[in-house]
Order: sequence, then structure tokens, then C-alpha cells
Amino acid sequence: MLLELRDLHVKYGNVEALHGINLTVDEGEIVTILGANGAGKSTTLNSICGLVKATQGEILLDGQPIHSVPAHNIVKLGISQSPEGRRVFSTLTVEENMDLGAFTLKDKGVIERNREWIYDLFPRLLERRTQLAGTLSGGEQQMLAIGRALMSNPRLLLLDEPSLGLAPILVKSIFETIRKINKHGLTVILVEQNARAALKLADRGYVMEVGNIVLADDAKTLLANPEIQSAYLGGK
Ligand code: ATP
Repeated sequence: MLLELRDLHVKYGNVEALHGINLTVDEGEIVTILGANGAGKSTTLNSICGLVKATQGEILLDGQPIHSVPAHNIVKLGISQSPEGRRVFSTLTVEENMDLGAFTLKDKGVIERNREWIYDLFPRLLERRTQLAGTLSGGEQQMLAIGRALMSNPRLLLLDEPSLGLAPILVKSIFETIRKINKHGLTVILVEQNARAALKLADRGYVMEVGNIVLADDAKTLLANPEIQSAYLGGK
């Protein structure tokens, strides 16, 4: 098992946002987390990458506890996140944004290979590499956020709403790219409002409601579940 969350609790001030999450991810899987706004999906991802701290429970990577490790060291352990809302550095160029994603790497050859692979995944980023990130379209900024996350050579990629706000044609292409990234050997945790596409892509899924996991199953089983269909897939 690559990652395990055990009885994870997170609080913002006095308000508990996660009430004891249990979740596992095996090497090579795509695991999706579904849930309405405010269910705790982003909080779960942020706790895995060390941006919010657990108040109780454990996060294990390869069986080793990582819940006390600072965020910049989590990246060194091979976990990288493409955050919700893209959050690229708008006054830096595409290439400068990408290079920031490689801050944990020293080997220039590895950085160069990563960059080539990412430009291969997103040829648009290569075309725009000297352009300021703030002038990119929404879809291009999303590609850049994912590309930047990939620059650190992660084993585990956390994607928070990669298709949010994108035109339908770009949504399809982002999902195809996530599949390619997974085939390249990366394990992926995918948080998505587009539950149907996420379940079609994923091996397994977890459903969150107000800070709890209420259902966990194979993605195919979740897709066929009438309750999931009416709550998250807009009926059959
Ligand atoms: P969304 O899709 O809307 O981002 P989500 O499932 O990712 O939803 P979270 O963003 O994890 O949900 O939020 C879970 C709960 O924690 C919500 O009640 C939210 O208001 C609260 N919360 C999230 N971030 C903070 C914060 N920085 N300070 C205080 N409360 C927060």
C-alpha cells in the first residue's frame, strides 16, 4: 500500500472539518474522491501534502508516518498537488512556473527530462513557454498547474478539480492526460465535481459527506449504484 489515512481528523480553529477519515491508495491506482461542496475533499488533499495538519489520526506513506512532515519535505517524499483554482504565478512565464515546481530537484538532467515529458503531455505549454502565466486561458493555466506539480517527479499526484471551469472539449483532454500520467507510473488521487468522468477513469472511489467517508467501492460499482447516480451523476 502506498498511502493510508487512519482516523484522520482536521480542525479549522474550533470547527472540525474531517471527522476521522480512513482511506487507502495502492501504488499505480487512480482513486477518486466524490462529494458535494464543503464535504472535505480539498481538506483531505491538503492534509496529505502537509498544508493542513491533522489534529488526530495518521497519514502513512509506505507505512511511515508523514503527518508531522512539513509541506516542502512532503514534496521531497514524492507527493505533489495541483491545487483547486490553478494558482499559477501570473507574473512569471510558463517556464518559470514549471521550474518552481522542480525546487526539490538538483539534477539538471532529471529536470530537463521532466520538462520534455510535460511538454509532450501538454504541447500547448511548449508553444506558450515564454508567455506570462496570467495571460493564459483557463484551460492552459490548468495544464500549467498540473505540469508544475509533475516537475517534482512525484510518485503520487493529487489533483483538485482539474476540470473546473473548462470547456467540454478541454475536459475530455484533461481526463485523457490524467490517464497518460497514470500509465507513466504515477498514482493519482482525483477530486472532481465531474463525478461520472472521474469514476470512468478511476479504479476506486470514496464518497464524502460533511467530513466523513460514507461509501468506498470500485469505481464501476459506484457508477452502477442508484444512490450515487441520483446524488452525483444527475440520474442515469
Ligand atoms: P469544495 O469542493 O467546495 O472545495 P470540499 O469538499 O473540498 O469542497 P473543503 O474545502 O475541504 O471541502 O471544506 C471542508 C469544510 O472545511 C467546509 O465546511 C469549509 O467551509 C471548511 N474549511 C475549508 N477551508 C477552511 C479554512 N481555511 N478555514 C476554515 N474553514 C475551512
